[in-house]
Amino acid sequence: MTIKLDARIPAGPLAEKWDKHRFEMKLVNPANKRKYSVIVVGSGLAGASAAATLSELGYQVSCFCYQDSPRRAHSIAAQGGINAAKNYRNDGDSVQRLFYDTIKGGDFRAREANVYRLAQVSVDIIDQCVAQGVPFAREYGGLLANRSFGGAQVSRTFYARGQTGQQLLIGAYQAL
Ligand SMILES: Cc1cc2nc3c(=O)[nH]c(=O)nc-3n(C[C@H](O)[C@H](O)[C@H](O)COP(=O)(O)OP(=O)(O)OC[C@H]3O[C@@H](n4cnc5c(N)ncnc54)[C@H](O)[C@@H]3O)c2cc1C
Repeated sequence: MTIKLDARIPAGPLAEKWDKHRFEMKLVNPANKRKYSVIVVGSGLAGASAAATLSELGYQVSCFCYQDSPRRAHSIAAQGGINAAKNYRNDGDSVQRLFYDTIKGGDFRAREANVYRLAQVSVDIIDQCVAQGVPFAREYGGLLANRSFGGAQVSRTFYARGQTGQQLLIGAYQAL
Protein backbone atom coordinates (compact mmCIF):
# COMPACT_ATOMS: atom_id res chain seq x y z
CA MET A 1 0.00 0.00 0.00
CA THR A 2 1.38 3.43 -0.89
CA ILE A 3 0.56 6.39 1.27
CA LYS A 4 0.10 9.61 -0.63
CA LEU A 5 1.60 12.53 1.26
CA ASP A 6 -0.57 15.58 0.70
CA ALA A 7 0.08 18.60 2.90
CA ARG A 8 -2.80 20.44 1.19
CA ILE A 9 -0.78 23.59 0.78
CA PRO A 10 -2.72 26.22 -1.14
CA ALA A 11 -1.79 27.16 -4.71
CA GLY A 12 -0.18 30.44 -5.75
CA PRO A 13 3.17 32.22 -5.34
CA LEU A 14 5.03 31.12 -2.21
CA ALA A 15 4.68 34.33 -0.22
CA GLU A 16 0.96 34.65 -1.03
CA LYS A 17 -0.32 31.07 -0.68
CA TRP A 18 -1.72 31.31 2.84
CA ASP A 19 -2.81 34.97 2.62
CA LYS A 20 -4.69 34.15 -0.57
CA HIS A 21 -6.20 31.02 0.94
CA ARG A 22 -7.38 32.90 4.03
CA PHE A 23 -8.92 35.62 1.91
CA GLU A 24 -10.75 33.08 -0.23
CA MET A 25 -12.17 31.16 2.75
CA LYS A 26 -15.79 31.86 3.56
CA LEU A 27 -16.34 33.91 6.71
CA VAL A 28 -18.70 32.62 9.39
CA ASN A 29 -21.40 34.92 10.65
CA PRO A 30 -20.55 35.81 14.29
CA ALA A 31 -24.01 34.68 15.40
CA ASN A 32 -23.43 31.24 13.85
CA LYS A 33 -20.00 30.59 15.33
CA ARG A 34 -21.36 29.13 18.54
CA LYS A 35 -23.19 26.49 16.47
CA TYR A 36 -19.85 24.96 15.47
CA SER A 37 -18.06 22.55 17.81
CA VAL A 38 -14.30 22.24 17.47
CA ILE A 39 -12.28 19.42 19.04
CA VAL A 40 -8.58 20.08 19.74
CA VAL A 41 -6.43 17.11 20.74
CA GLY A 42 -3.44 18.09 22.87
CA SER A 43 -2.78 21.22 24.89
CA GLY A 44 0.80 22.00 23.91
CA LEU A 45 1.59 25.41 22.51
CA ALA A 46 -0.08 24.55 19.21
CA GLY A 47 -3.25 22.99 20.65
CA ALA A 48 -3.74 25.39 23.57
CA SER A 49 -3.19 28.44 21.37
CA ALA A 50 -5.56 27.16 18.70
CA ALA A 51 -8.20 26.28 21.28
CA ALA A 52 -7.95 29.65 23.05
CA THR A 53 -8.02 31.58 19.78
CA LEU A 54 -11.00 29.68 18.37
CA SER A 55 -12.94 30.12 21.62
CA GLU A 56 -12.15 33.83 21.57
CA LEU A 57 -13.67 33.90 18.08
CA GLY A 58 -16.89 32.39 19.45
CA TYR A 59 -16.70 28.70 18.55
CA GLN A 60 -17.57 25.92 21.00
CA VAL A 61 -14.19 24.37 21.68
CA SER A 62 -13.23 21.22 23.60
CA CYS A 63 -9.50 20.78 24.21
CA PHE A 64 -8.35 17.31 25.31
CA CYS A 65 -5.14 16.36 27.04
CA TYR A 66 -3.98 13.36 29.04
CA GLN A 67 -1.35 14.84 31.34
CA ASP A 68 -2.10 15.77 34.94
CA SER A 69 -2.37 19.40 33.78
CA PRO A 70 -2.79 21.02 30.34
CA ARG A 71 0.36 22.96 31.18
CA ARG A 72 2.54 19.86 31.14
CA ALA A 73 2.77 19.34 27.38
CA HIS A 74 6.15 18.65 25.82
CA SER A 75 6.36 22.33 24.84
CA ILE A 76 7.52 22.82 28.41
CA ALA A 77 10.93 21.59 27.25
CA ALA A 78 11.56 24.54 24.90
CA GLN A 79 14.10 26.75 26.59
CA GLY A 80 15.95 29.01 24.17
CA GLY A 81 13.18 31.31 23.07
CA ILE A 82 10.84 32.15 20.22
CA ASN A 83 11.97 33.77 16.99
CA ALA A 84 10.17 36.75 15.49
CA ALA A 85 11.13 38.98 12.60
CA LYS A 86 10.33 42.21 14.43
CA ASN A 87 13.74 43.69 13.57
CA TYR A 88 13.87 45.60 16.89
CA ARG A 89 17.67 45.69 16.63
CA ASN A 90 17.66 47.01 13.07
CA ASP A 91 20.31 44.41 12.26
CA GLY A 92 18.90 43.41 8.89
CA ASP A 93 16.14 41.02 9.91
CA SER A 94 12.99 40.54 7.83
CA VAL A 95 10.24 38.01 7.23
CA GLN A 96 12.22 36.79 4.21
CA ARG A 97 15.39 36.32 6.29
CA LEU A 98 13.59 34.44 9.08
CA PHE A 99 11.99 32.27 6.40
CA TYR A 100 15.38 31.56 4.81
CA ASP A 101 17.14 30.83 8.13
CA THR A 102 14.33 28.49 9.21
CA ILE A 103 14.37 26.58 5.93
CA LYS A 104 18.15 26.29 6.14
CA GLY A 105 18.03 25.32 9.84
CA GLY A 106 15.60 22.55 8.89
CA ASP A 107 18.05 21.10 6.37
CA PHE A 108 15.77 22.27 3.54
CA ARG A 109 13.24 19.61 4.46
CA ALA A 110 10.45 21.80 5.86
CA ARG A 111 7.38 22.76 3.85
CA GLU A 112 8.31 26.14 2.45
CA ALA A 113 4.86 27.73 2.32
CA ASN A 114 4.20 26.81 5.94
CA VAL A 115 7.57 28.16 7.06
CA TYR A 116 6.86 31.39 5.21
CA ARG A 117 3.57 31.64 7.08
CA LEU A 118 5.39 31.03 10.36
CA ALA A 119 7.79 33.88 9.56
CA GLN A 120 4.90 36.17 8.66
CA VAL A 121 2.85 35.58 11.80
CA SER A 122 5.90 35.53 14.09
CA VAL A 123 5.70 39.33 14.23
CA ASP A 124 2.22 39.34 15.81
CA ILE A 125 2.64 36.28 17.99
CA ILE A 126 5.05 38.04 20.36
CA ASP A 127 2.46 40.78 20.96
CA GLN A 128 -0.22 38.15 21.57
CA CYS A 129 1.99 36.35 24.09
CA VAL A 130 2.81 39.61 25.88
CA ALA A 131 -0.91 40.39 26.06
CA GLN A 132 -1.42 36.95 27.65
CA GLY A 133 1.11 37.86 30.31
CA VAL A 134 4.20 35.96 29.16
CA PRO A 135 7.11 37.55 31.07
CA PHE A 136 9.64 37.92 28.25
CA ALA A 137 13.04 39.28 29.24
CA ARG A 138 13.31 43.06 28.96
CA GLU A 139 16.08 45.61 28.69
CA TYR A 140 16.58 47.87 31.70
CA GLY A 141 14.62 50.56 29.83
CA GLY A 142 11.60 48.24 29.65
CA LEU A 143 11.74 47.24 25.99
CA LEU A 144 11.58 43.56 25.07
CA ALA A 145 15.06 42.05 24.90
CA ASN A 146 16.37 40.01 21.98
CA ARG A 147 19.24 37.62 21.62
CA SER A 148 20.85 35.80 18.76
CA PHE A 149 20.09 32.10 19.04
CA GLY A 150 20.86 28.95 17.13
CA GLY A 151 23.61 30.41 14.99
CA ALA A 152 21.45 33.24 13.60
CA GLN A 153 23.35 36.36 12.49
CA VAL A 154 20.57 38.63 13.80
CA SER A 155 19.06 39.05 17.28
CA ARG A 156 15.45 37.99 16.93
CA THR A 157 14.88 35.55 19.79
CA PHE A 158 12.41 36.60 22.50
CA TYR A 159 12.96 34.64 25.68
CA ALA A 160 12.02 34.20 29.32
CA ARG A 161 15.26 33.10 30.99
CA GLY A 162 15.63 29.39 30.24
CA GLN A 163 11.93 28.71 30.62
CA THR A 164 10.38 30.20 27.51
CA GLY A 165 8.29 27.15 26.63
CA GLN A 166 7.01 26.83 30.17
CA GLN A 167 6.09 30.51 30.38
CA LEU A 168 4.40 30.40 26.97
CA LEU A 169 2.42 27.36 28.10
CA ILE A 170 1.28 29.18 31.23
CA GLY A 171 0.17 32.11 29.03
CA ALA A 172 -1.73 29.81 26.68
CA TYR A 173 -3.25 27.95 29.63
CA GLN A 174 -4.48 31.22 31.15
CA ALA A 175 -5.99 32.14 27.79
CA LEU A 176 -7.80 28.78 27.78
C1 LIG B 1 14.34 20.18 24.50
C2 LIG B 1 13.58 21.04 23.49
C3 LIG B 1 13.95 22.35 23.34
C4 LIG B 1 13.29 23.14 22.42
N1 LIG B 1 13.63 24.47 22.34
C5 LIG B 1 12.94 25.28 21.52
C6 LIG B 1 13.21 26.68 21.51
O1 LIG B 1 14.06 27.18 22.22
N2 LIG B 1 12.48 27.46 20.68
C7 LIG B 1 11.52 26.94 19.86
O2 LIG B 1 10.87 27.70 19.13
N3 LIG B 1 11.23 25.60 19.86
C8 LIG B 1 11.92 24.78 20.67
N4 LIG B 1 11.62 23.44 20.70
C9 LIG B 1 10.57 22.95 19.81
C10 LIG B 1 9.20 23.31 20.38
O3 LIG B 1 9.21 23.18 21.76
C11 LIG B 1 8.14 22.38 19.79
O4 LIG B 1 8.21 22.41 18.38
C12 LIG B 1 6.74 22.84 20.19
O5 LIG B 1 6.68 23.08 21.58
C13 LIG B 1 5.72 21.79 19.79
O6 LIG B 1 4.46 22.19 20.27
P1 LIG B 1 3.21 21.30 20.01
O7 LIG B 1 2.03 21.97 20.68
O8 LIG B 1 3.10 21.02 18.54
O9 LIG B 1 3.56 19.88 20.67
P2 LIG B 1 3.55 19.39 22.21
O10 LIG B 1 3.97 20.48 23.16
O11 LIG B 1 4.31 18.11 22.22
O12 LIG B 1 2.02 19.15 22.47
C14 LIG B 1 1.34 18.02 21.94
C15 LIG B 1 0.42 17.56 23.04
O13 LIG B 1 -0.50 16.62 22.51
C16 LIG B 1 -0.70 15.63 23.51
N5 LIG B 1 -1.28 14.46 22.87
C17 LIG B 1 -0.74 13.68 21.91
N6 LIG B 1 -1.61 12.70 21.58
C18 LIG B 1 -2.71 12.89 22.34
C19 LIG B 1 -3.95 12.21 22.44
N7 LIG B 1 -4.23 11.15 21.69
N8 LIG B 1 -4.86 12.68 23.32
C20 LIG B 1 -4.59 13.79 24.07
N9 LIG B 1 -3.44 14.46 24.02
C21 LIG B 1 -2.51 14.00 23.16
C22 LIG B 1 0.68 15.40 24.07
O14 LIG B 1 0.60 14.78 25.33
C23 LIG B 1 1.15 16.85 24.19
O15 LIG B 1 0.76 17.43 25.41
C24 LIG B 1 12.27 22.61 21.62
C25 LIG B 1 11.89 21.27 21.78
C26 LIG B 1 12.55 20.50 22.71
C27 LIG B 1 12.11 19.06 22.88
